Amino acid sequence: MTARILVVDDVEANVRLLEAKLTLEYYDVLSCHDGMTAIALAGAEKPDIILLDVMMPGMDGFETCKRLKADPETRHIPVVLVTALDGREDRIKGLEAGADDFVTKPIDDVILFARVRSLTRLKLIMDELREREESGRRMGVTTDGAGRLRGSGGRVLIVDDNARQAETIAAELSGEHRPVIEADAGAALVASRGLIDLMIVNIGAESFDGLRLIAQARSVDATRHLPILAVVDNADRPRLLKALELGVNDILSRPVDPGELSARARTQIRRKRYTDFLRDKLDYSLEMAVTDALTGLHNRRYMAGQLQALVQRASHGGDPVAVLVMDIDHFKSVNDGFGHDAGDEVLTEFAVRLATNVRAVDLPCRFGGEEFVVVMPGTELADAHRIADRIRRDVASAPFRVMGGKELITITVSIGVAASLGQGDTPEALLKRGDEGVYEAKAGGRNKVIARAA
Ligand code: GH3
Ligand code: MG
Ligand code: MG
Repeated sequence: MTARILVVDDVEANVRLLEAKLTLEYYDVLSCHDGMTAIALAGAEKPDIILLDVMMPGMDGFETCKRLKADPETRHIPVVLVTALDGREDRIKGLEAGADDFVTKPIDDVILFARVRSLTRLKLIMDELREREESGRRMGVTTDGAGRLRGSGGRVLIVDDNARQAETIAAELSGEHRPVIEADAGAALVASRGLIDLMIVNIGAESFDGLRLIAQARSVDATRHLPILAVVDNADRPRLLKALELGVNDILSRPVDPGELSARARTQIRRKRYTDFLRDKLDYSLEMAVTDALTGLHNRRYMAGQLQALVQRASHGGDPVAVLVMDIDHFKSVNDGFGHDAGDEVLTEFAVRLATNVRAVDLPCRFGGEEFVVVMPGTELADAHRIADRIRRDVASAPFRVMGGKELITITVSIGVAASLGQGDTPEALLKRGDEGVYEAKAGGRNKVIARAA
């Protein structure tokens, strides 16, 4: 997995060193020497990761990072701050500026590559989500509400058998989040599948194998994307590397520094909310793309796609398909007499009666306005006719209750029925025959079903 990395450092020698190391690992490297250029390059070149030096004349790394994170065009690009070894304050300040991670100078190659790899993986997921969301928007679906990207109020599960350490962590987080402590790995695994925003695991625990717990969490769908912070002894390098390899999102070295803990927790929770947000939006936009907002039935676009496939199959010797085309009678007088809202209520109630009178395999759809279509796979004309008449009777039999039950309105519907004719038939021709049935039913006095054989 390769990536384009933007290296920003005012000292040319530092840039060249990083460039050499990263190029050796087959990363594609861009570089510049100041914050302003970095912002411009980030916008124009869309790198996958930015390695940003903190100490730069003019605009420093914090300010650069803040600006990158404030711009929707570059917000999603992970930023790794490069700080001095003793720059604890800097690291906390950096994470608060929205940095995704940091490495200290002199740079430890193994840690650097591990972090770059894990950020690249994360970015891949985010890019895919963003892309799918974008295509949803192109299909005419918009969603809103980007205001949920806070990094506070998180539900944090602390898995640690060292009671003192666990309580210190919980106490530090409790001002901002809702931490719970679990000393047993089995119970923790169950708890992690609940509503948790972040799991903190002591991988040096004595009574359980923290690395195994992480591996188990990563292998289950429910927790595959759950942010995990591993608490590790800095001296225990093999375990630290193994944790990164297993896919922990970040590392906290012991003894845990309170400021760093809260900054890292906040970053992980904010990042999770961002991916959750994109994922929710994606589900919502996919659903909106196929659903009629007023009635919850399938919409016309969805119906067209399904009908196309079914008619094609029928015309190649597959199962027949029938359609019911329906238009509510004198619907204008409902709007005129009771108002548009009452009209909407009638449409909603009509959809309910429609949906409860068809089989699970049938596709009831709102075609537009007060016109509805039911697509019926595997159905002959005669059977479709019977079902249509059942719907017609069910609609006419009991008046529609609207405006909180204040008004009762009698509604009737005219229905045209048509079925596929095999070879040469098209969805348009099928719907047209159904439409002609509706026209005939209206001309014949409404509240009628007319089946058109051809
Ligand atoms: P007919 O028996 O000939 O079908 O008479 P009609 O009044 O139903 O005929 P027409 O198709 O002319 O009128 C349909 C009306 O439906 C016109 C339009 O204002 C109304 N309408 C379309 N969409 C909606 C909607 O979403 N909500 C409401 N309340 N009314 C709608
Ligand atoms: Mg109409
Ligand atoms: Mg009508």
